[in-house]
Amino acid sequence: MFATRCAVRRLPQRAARRWAHTPATLKFNSVTEQDIAHFQKILPAASIISTLSPVSSPASELSIFNDDWMNKYHGKSTTVLRPKSTKEVSEIVKYCNERGIAIVPQGGNTGLVGGSVPLKDELILSLGNMTKIRSFDPVSGIIVADAGCILEAMSEYLAPHDYIMPLDLGAKGSCQIGGNVSTNAGGLRLLRYGNLHGSVLGLEVVLPDGTVLDQLSTLRKDNTGYDLKQLFIGAEGTLGIVTGVSILAAPAPQASSNVMLALPKYDNVLPLFREVKRQLSEILSAFEFIDRKSYELAVKHGQGRALNDEDVEGAECFVLVETSGGKREHDEEKLNGLLESLLEADEPLINTGVLSQSPAQFSQLWAIREGITEAVSKEGKAYKYDISIPVASFKEVVDKTRDHLKSKGLLHDDAVKHVVGYGHVGDGNLHLNVVAAAYTPEIEAALEPFVYELVASYKGSISAEHGIGAMKTHALQYSKSTTSIDLMKKIKALFDPKGIMNPGKVLE
Ligand SMILES: Cc1cc2nc3c(=O)[nH]c(=O)nc-3n(C[C@H](O)[C@H](O)[C@H](O)COP(=O)(O)OP(=O)(O)OC[C@H]3O[C@@H](n4cnc5c(N)ncnc54)[C@H](O)[C@@H]3O)c2cc1C
Repeated sequence: MFATRCAVRRLPQRAARRWAHTPATLKFNSVTEQDIAHFQKILPAASIISTLSPVSSPASELSIFNDDWMNKYHGKSTTVLRPKSTKEVSEIVKYCNERGIAIVPQGGNTGLVGGSVPLKDELILSLGNMTKIRSFDPVSGIIVADAGCILEAMSEYLAPHDYIMPLDLGAKGSCQIGGNVSTNAGGLRLLRYGNLHGSVLGLEVVLPDGTVLDQLSTLRKDNTGYDLKQLFIGAEGTLGIVTGVSILAAPAPQASSNVMLALPKYDNVLPLFREVKRQLSEILSAFEFIDRKSYELAVKHGQGRALNDEDVEGAECFVLVETSGGKREHDEEKLNGLLESLLEADEPLINTGVLSQSPAQFSQLWAIREGITEAVSKEGKAYKYDISIPVASFKEVVDKTRDHLKSKGLLHDDAVKHVVGYGHVGDGNLHLNVVAAAYTPEIEAALEPFVYELVASYKGSISAEHGIGAMKTHALQYSKSTTSIDLMKKIKALFDPKGIMNPGKVLE
């Protein structure tokens, strides 16, 4: 049972205490050998991984499911089930609900807030075996797919049809569309295509009692009362298991280019953004911010190719601008015109601009930006804050956090090595990363609630795109009113009265 395992968990102390505060009404059962015998009636042997007999898998086979991407959160699950169909998911969930076994739905396990791994020994339901494209309409661009489809595989499927997925992120090679929907992932294309609340047209969801909610619509317009699918977008697996997704793909741009701009000072970012929007207008598809340290870490850890020294010299930060349009000559003319006007201005906003000249260079420039998350995790243990604040305050927030850690005597190689900022300027989303030698209660205490209070002082959001997971349940009130949180709790209780669906995530 959970209560007896609490003491041996390796979660940060405060998370463990919070779990102990879970209402006494929520009691879950551990998976037993009898349960495994039942699952064997639902699933083929290859779909069950369990340290329990009669399956008896080695514990090492479970660690990739129990440990999160950052190696920060560690579950103690004995059992992973990998169903291949919605029917199998439904039968598993129905049984777990009756038995009071808690479930953690898991996609690609690339989440950055500890939402995808158990807090204790919950059963892990991995969607990784559900990988079918169910249909694609090349006229409307609507694609319907199993939730376990890898984002990159969907992009590859669409490419010959001249379509792209409306979202893209650094984890695309591992994350799944069901995970993307469940986290309402933002990423690199949000500026152009908006978020998943707009592009997801329908969902198929297995509710916590095993009922299949079939809302897999392929309609662009449907005003027939409450739009229930929206509740599951960003629910982080707390309301049900997404098994199918209908999503509107975007026509593939016929020409894409990018340019890395080096800025002498951060203050130039906002005027630059205005100028870039004014000159590029409809072909602007990304405007990404990278501070100097983030750039250095990316290059140090082999993400993309380093820019020439003269392009980096004197730069306080960088901006990666991408254009996507319908006609190469037209787009190149606009981008070249932008660069010329920026460089020739009386008071230039940029030092230099490195324009990609080939598809390989285009990818190299993107690799620097996309590789920062990985570089940061190679450099040390990352405390990741994914916040929405006014763009003008990005640097201020990074600097204030660094100063605060310094004032606590924590800014040195054995504690906090770097405080860096990067992110999606176009969407007001800053990734504030504190890179430490180790995860320690002392650093966590210095950072929280400091960072959340700082964000609240700018009327920002404590989670722009990664979600709440296990990491921020205690901080929800910094971004949501009591009325909102109470309503969220009522919705959770309505869908999941026994609380079996990803307990301890999003809501305490
Ligand atoms: C290198 C890197 C770059 C990243 N860049 C971005 C970025 O730019 N933007 C961004 O938003 N995120 C980013 N992330 C975070 C992460 O990739 C996203 O949150 C992603 O959407 C998670 O998808 P997943 O399949 O890995 O889900 P998981 O990590 O497996 O799960 C995430 C949450 O969703 C739930 N869940 C998963 N699948 C289902 C399902 N089928 N039904 C119900 N619940 C489910 C889980 O229980 C968990 O709470 C990045 C991560 C990495 C490692």
